[in-house]
Amino acid sequence: MPVSADTLITARWVIPVVPNDAVLEHHAIAIDKGAIVDVLPIARALERYGDTPTVSLGNQVLIPGLINLHTHAAMTLMRGLADDLPLMTWLHDHIWPVESKIVCAEFVRDGTLLACAEMLRGGVTCFNDMYFFPEATAQAALQARMRAAIGIIAVEFPSAYATDATDYLSKGMALRDAMRDENRLSFCLAPHAPYTVSDATFERIAVYAAELDIPVHTHLHETTDEIRDSIAAHGVSPLRRLANLGLLGPNLIAVHATHVATEDIALLAAHGCHVAHCPTSNLKLGSGLAPIAALLQAGINVGLGTDSAASNNRLDLLAELRLAALLGKLGACNAAAIPARQALEMATINAARALGLEHKIGSLETGKRADITAINLDALELAPCYSPLSHIAYAAGREQVSHVWVDGELLVKDGSLLGVDTAGIIARAGHWHDKIKQAGA
Ligand SMILES: [Zn+2]
Repeated sequence: MPVSADTLITARWVIPVVPNDAVLEHHAIAIDKGAIVDVLPIARALERYGDTPTVSLGNQVLIPGLINLHTHAAMTLMRGLADDLPLMTWLHDHIWPVESKIVCAEFVRDGTLLACAEMLRGGVTCFNDMYFFPEATAQAALQARMRAAIGIIAVEFPSAYATDATDYLSKGMALRDAMRDENRLSFCLAPHAPYTVSDATFERIAVYAAELDIPVHTHLHETTDEIRDSIAAHGVSPLRRLANLGLLGPNLIAVHATHVATEDIALLAAHGCHVAHCPTSNLKLGSGLAPIAALLQAGINVGLGTDSAASNNRLDLLAELRLAALLGKLGACNAAAIPARQALEMATINAARALGLEHKIGSLETGKRADITAINLDALELAPCYSPLSHIAYAAGREQVSHVWVDGELLVKDGSLLGVDTAGIIARAGHWHDKIKQAGA
């Protein structure tokens, strides 16, 4: 039984996510050296940890820190640059030309710092990223004190970051070697998509993933065009192509899975693959409606992502949670599909599982790292409160996030970022806005 803790947090409600039916009232969480050491009723906590510095949150609900299972953080600097376009027009005519002219390590660092600030204030404590110059993403995440899964990106085309797929992979693997002991960082292999990565590169990535036992994070079956083009070029769908190349397995995080037939769902389920569902991005790019209820029913682990702020345009995981629940019901024509509890699981423990981090994060359990988000239920918009779980899924917004801890470190207090130069971050965003405009993008 622990007798010492360095922080005690008390709140009206605690939803630990594991066990999955628990909604604890008048509970406390004791933290020591960044880890959760106790979850217990407030009265008992005050007896046991009476001298411990205490954060008393009153009418708030504590949930595990939200996990953004798919984003391109640096692209926050392209928020609102090109809207109302289908995926390939958006990529070919707007995003890729800007990236070829502008993107450098400094851009990625500034954009990721902006993204981290936005995500933290919205209750997100961990993000899974895919972008150029991942060392700058890693540095920015560490500077923001946030947890991040850094993508070892691979594409065939050259960029300011790397010349070809071999160069991308060798740079990414060297970064992982250099930073693998950082507690708040983990790494994924991140081949961009079947339409930008060759068979030979995918085969190398399958070997690396097996050797290193790290996830493979890739866009998959986002649009019907992607599937049609793959059948024309390779004779098979992208998913079947990845299966033939040995990529399917419990390491694979398939981002989007918007267009998956019954046999595709069976294939993903049989291999224990994970899906990162990005409902807002799918809606905004007009890509389609992922059959989330069917994926979950097949036993597939589904987490939630924002995708980038260039196709969202918010890094707001509470909004994704609400949308996933609502769209899941629509897609299944069933109001009981994706209940609030399941939507919260998608934004927490399911995403942790996909990243191979379920032993560390994703729930409020003794032994896990203290990544915690507090939501204030005092707002007029949240009155009355019959169920805090209902409010998290259907009523609360990120503006009600009050406190956020990562590894037991308080990073957001009363809705404000601690130790962050917010004005400086906004000024850097303005600088890149001007550079992008001057480049004629
Ligand atoms: Zn994406």
